[in-house]
Amino acid sequence: MTEHTTSYYAASANKYEPFPTLSESITCDVCVVGGGYTGLSSALHLAEMGYDVVLLESARIGFGASGRNGGQLVNSYSRDIDVIESNYGPDAARMLGSMMFEGGEIIRERIKRYQIDCDYRPGGLFVALNPKQLATLEEQKENWERYGNTQLELLDADAIAKEVNTDRYVGALLDRSGGHIHPLNLAIGEADAIRLNGGRVYEQSPVTRIQHSNPAVVSTEKGQVTARYVIVAGNAYLGDKVEPELAKRSMPCGTQVVTTEPLSAEVAQSLIPNNYCVEDCNYLLDYYRLTGDNRLLYGGGVVYGARDPDDVERLIMPKLLKTFPQLKGVKIDYRWTGNFLLTLSRMPQFGRLSGNIYYMQGYSGHGVTCTHLAGRLVSEALRGDAERFDAFAKLPHYPFPGGRNLRIPFTAMGAAYYSLRDRLGV
Ligand SMILES: Cc1cc2nc3c(=O)[nH]c(=O)nc-3n(C[C@H](O)[C@H](O)[C@H](O)COP(=O)(O)OP(=O)(O)OC[C@H]3O[C@@H](n4cnc5c(N)ncnc54)[C@H](O)[C@@H]3O)c2cc1C
Repeated sequence: MTEHTTSYYAASANKYEPFPTLSESITCDVCVVGGGYTGLSSALHLAEMGYDVVLLESARIGFGASGRNGGQLVNSYSRDIDVIESNYGPDAARMLGSMMFEGGEIIRERIKRYQIDCDYRPGGLFVALNPKQLATLEEQKENWERYGNTQLELLDADAIAKEVNTDRYVGALLDRSGGHIHPLNLAIGEADAIRLNGGRVYEQSPVTRIQHSNPAVVSTEKGQVTARYVIVAGNAYLGDKVEPELAKRSMPCGTQVVTTEPLSAEVAQSLIPNNYCVEDCNYLLDYYRLTGDNRLLYGGGVVYGARDPDDVERLIMPKLLKTFPQLKGVKIDYRWTGNFLLTLSRMPQFGRLSGNIYYMQGYSGHGVTCTHLAGRLVSEALRGDAERFDAFAKLPHYPFPGGRNLRIPFTAMGAAYYSLRDRLGV
């Protein structure tokens, strides 16, 4: 049995009736591999459409990044729309731009429809540490407004100091259509909604093999699923055995999070009065927010190649105290690490491994909203309308330079370069 990591989320998760382990041979329309947001969103969209869906999770629902992340509903993609336009052309930018706020909408719809209790709070801040970053945020505002986001506001140094009680920032972009959630409770709520719509969910059921045939045959340690379609949604936790092709195009990376002891309501409110979530604009960014019970949840740092850092607290505390020196001496109750999946282009990778085997992965650290979009797009594709799915599938998927052995040092060197530029403000 593989249980959740030692996170604040696991400790404060909503109780649910556990899902069984698959121990027989069954058939269905669609078999989804992975119980993170990509798999859950896909399975829920399909179950709502009337498909007979089976979801297989190797550990617990939300065991991977979806149950460990910063909980920030960040709109758009890990590369912004101007980069998409210059790299892939105006048609790709138009298509992807028209979808860049949809993932957040899907999450809000689901919370409302299924009454998911996950501490949703609206509003997210992108904070600038230097004038160059602020200029980029101004451009981002213009770009997002061109694609219909009317909920943006630029904040100068005085205004951001009123939103976040630190003197570190020269300005910010407030996105009122962003926000934050308890991510594991969202995942659990979505799994329950799949069950409610007649889908079958299995935990502790690692997939060991996917036979590419029609129908496909998906084997687990103790059972088997015969399905017309398969959706591979294992992301950074898939490993390189089940579908080695997917591993070659991506790299798992670890990022670390700590959560303080509960703060008094006054102290919590003094830090972030309007309870927005915050991420900075550095390449190796800090991200933080208050939880539903007034803790400060603070993440940052990247370990390329997904090794666990020796001591999460040692890594994150200096960052936390640099932002909020007034919290010196605060106790840390929870510390954990989680893996996201980086792609070379930093764009997500959607596609087909064969006619009836689909995959979506590689959100490069910004996946809470895009995973939800991915699930809707694959459900449209299976229904026969693949135009929006294919807008992503057409983007090129590059292998990491250096192959399995050198991709980690090469990428770390690249990150060190961009990090130095951030520190110098150039
Ligand atoms: C610490 C951290 C902080 C982050 N913060 C943010 C944030 O604030 N905002 C944001 O937008 N993004 C954030 N991200 C990224 C975001 O969480 C991910 O992009 C997103 O959750 C990916 O969802 P997923 O379903 O594709 O993958 P995962 O959530 O990793 O799910 C994959 C699932 O597949 C299962 N699986 C793997 N292999 C198999 C198999 N063989 N058989 C069965 N099951 C299998 C795994 O157990 C896992 O549960 C963060 C990521 C991390 C790690």
